[in-house]
Amino acid sequence: MEAKINETLIALACGDITEESTAAIVNAANARLAGGAGVDGAIHRAGGLAIMKECRKIGSCPTGQAVITSGGNLKARYVIHTVGPIYRGGLKDEARLLQCAYRESLRLASENSLQSISFPAISCGVYGYPIAEAARLALQTCIEFAGENTGIELIRHILFDRRTYEIFSIEFKKLLFNHNNGD
Ligand code: ADP
Repeated sequence: MEAKINETLIALACGDITEESTAAIVNAANARLAGGAGVDGAIHRAGGLAIMKECRKIGSCPTGQAVITSGGNLKARYVIHTVGPIYRGGLKDEARLLQCAYRESLRLASENSLQSISFPAISCGVYGYPIAEAARLALQTCIEFAGENTGIELIRHILFDRRTYEIFSIEFKKLLFNHNNGD
């Protein structure tokens, strides 16, 4: 499903983010930018060693922040590595940090004049964030960003499995309803 907010199309799709051809894809990295399991491992496998070399040069990235490297062998020209929070019950600033991770990624894309970006479900794997809550925060942040007219024409959320896709779709519909009714 998809919806246009101002000049930005926000779209949800089920799939593998390493196959996306948006200008940037976002990696759910860890703070050491060391690669790992899940989407991080998949991006480094598909993108090749050039990305890891750049990550080593950068060194690290605090939770809620983002850094940019080239896309190596990927179709995407850039990878934006962001670090989502580990979910520890919800009272450790997780919601703000998750929103920060999305917002900082969007800001980096916009700063680099990139017109399209794909996100995975940051923190929804090993980091254990409840998916509905993470979806609401992710999509809310993107809707807000689109409202600010920042030159990004396309934001894609690439959900790896059907269940995550369905949950994101439900939350997106709720947020769009509120958005269109002036909330
Ligand atoms: P985190 O540590 O931030 O939780 P994970 O990589 O463990 O990151 O999981 C984040 C989300 O990415 C999960 O929903 C997982 O199913 C999904 N995922 C894993 N591989 C891919 C892929 N190739 N493309 C898109 N999403 C993926």
